[in-house]
Amino acid sequence: MKTKTAEKIDTKPKACMRTREQYIEGLRTMRRNLYYRGRLIDRDDELQMPTLNVMGTTFDAAFDPELKDLCTATSHLTGNTINRFCHIHQNTDDLHRKQNMTRALCRKVGFCIQRCMGIDATNAVNAASYEADKLNNGNTEYHKNFIKWLTNFQNNDLVGCCAQTDIKGERLKRPIEQTDPDMYLHVVERKSDGIVVRGCKLHISEASIADEILVVPTRALGPDEKDYAVAFAVPADHEGVKQVLSIHNFRPREHFKKGFSGGYTDSYLIFDDVFVPWDRVFLCGENDHGGMCALLFALFHRHSYSGCKPAIGDVMTGLASLAAKHNGIRKTGHIREMLAEFIKITELGYAAGYTASAMGKPEVYVPGLGSVPYGPGSCIPNSIYANVGRCLTGEAVFEEQEMLCSIAGGLPATFPNEADIMNPELRPLLEKYLNRNPGASVEDQIKFWMLYIDYSCSGFTGPMNYGNYHGGGSPIMEQIAITSQYDIKLRENLVNYIAGVEELKPGTLTKI
Ligand SMILES: Cc1cc2nc3c(=O)[nH]c(=O)nc-3n(C[C@H](O)[C@H](O)[C@H](O)COP(=O)(O)OP(=O)(O)OC[C@H]3O[C@@H](n4cnc5c(N)ncnc54)[C@H](O)[C@@H]3O)c2cc1C
Repeated sequence: MKTKTAEKIDTKPKACMRTREQYIEGLRTMRRNLYYRGRLIDRDDELQMPTLNVMGTTFDAAFDPELKDLCTATSHLTGNTINRFCHIHQNTDDLHRKQNMTRALCRKVGFCIQRCMGIDATNAVNAASYEADKLNNGNTEYHKNFIKWLTNFQNNDLVGCCAQTDIKGERLKRPIEQTDPDMYLHVVERKSDGIVVRGCKLHISEASIADEILVVPTRALGPDEKDYAVAFAVPADHEGVKQVLSIHNFRPREHFKKGFSGGYTDSYLIFDDVFVPWDRVFLCGENDHGGMCALLFALFHRHSYSGCKPAIGDVMTGLASLAAKHNGIRKTGHIREMLAEFIKITELGYAAGYTASAMGKPEVYVPGLGSVPYGPGSCIPNSIYANVGRCLTGEAVFEEQEMLCSIAGGLPATFPNEADIMNPELRPLLEKYLNRNPGASVEDQIKFWMLYIDYSCSGFTGPMNYGNYHGGGSPIMEQIAITSQYDIKLRENLVNYIAGVEELKPGTLTKI
């Protein structure tokens, strides 16, 4: 006979990390709603495998002796050990660890690690849902809904993507002014058991391999735009959700195998009158907090870029240095200049993110009020430093490409196809004429240039550059955030004091 104690639910903290195999097995059970080139594909379609290999790395890392301390965390809700990508930042150390985890894992896969959209969206919704309930004097349960959802998300080690970017239609018009009201996702019906939403979110990275889609608003919203102030989560195969995919894989290789094979996907997510039950709704009609949720996702995501862009900078620096070596120009002055430029962009981006982590607080910037407490106490990176870092690295994307192009010469544009190199008649001739560096085997040189082509002169390069430039918001958006939040008046006071126009104000010398 069972004792009373034995019947109690076990509440002892436990480890809640899945393996990559368990994660992929879970995806196999999902409804088919992925469209690629006009046909429905499975989540484990061969074309998705490179992307799954990248995401799988986030699961492996939680068990990797070298990475597990960085890539796991203790849930503030349950005390369970969870994958850090499911964690809510409790303090500045968590922000440092997210940045360092992102850089480490992006180094491992040589590109975007793909799981940061989920952690950034959950952290934004965590704060905004809490504040919306406060505004509604306890008449809504958004935060309770979110915590219930988050507990399941953490305990089952789920992958979240973030659907923020709307179609936006006529760019200079607000959502309510659009000719077609569906240009921004909005609530079309409120029912007793949930809401019905319509619209389309685009460029949504890794939605095709996510378990859950977190939907948040794109922009600031007026009191007349309450239907657009909606945040919720649905499974990625939810009834009524259609995904139209772009798949960006590195070029496959037959003979010259790579150390890591990755890729990524983006989806148009069409919400065709989708029903969302209330317990999955985290904001509905609170326009101020809808706008704040949009800003917060962008802020957390720009902070994530201070981990991923430096890792991509690490790859770019390695590419530049090795290309210069293989071309025999490594010791020239202009190569030194370019390498210094790569390192400056990479490490200033990292340093800005490090400072944003170190200065993190449970506060947000509100125009006219400055920095004010926001959310249930979870930690938010400093906005100025997260934005300047992201802006610097985003604007540098094409400069970095220009330097890669300059160092390589024309080789990447006309490099022989792998099948030609493997043709027995051509192989000795091509190996002879592809050999530029007596210090390296021709096989290693071929492998190197094939990778160089992936990063600088391929069908992968274009979408990669666009993502590195626009992801988390275009540089123009960061410029707006920086100039509207930075204390420019303090700098004016400083100059007026030196010029003898006015007295120094308290704090002008010491405030950062
Ligand atoms: C590869 C990739 C992956 C991405 N992943 C995600 C993701 O996972 N989730 C997600 O939510 N989003 C994602 N994004 C979207 C990204 O955040 C947006 O691309 C970015 O915010 C810019 O929006 P947009 O593409 O609509 O361009 P637009 O905003 O249309 O910008 C085009 C131009 O118009 C200008 N412009 C736009 N509006 C105005 C205005 N009102 N006044 C003056 N000028 C204006 C811009 O400054 C820019 O010069 C991704 C994008 C890419 C490229």
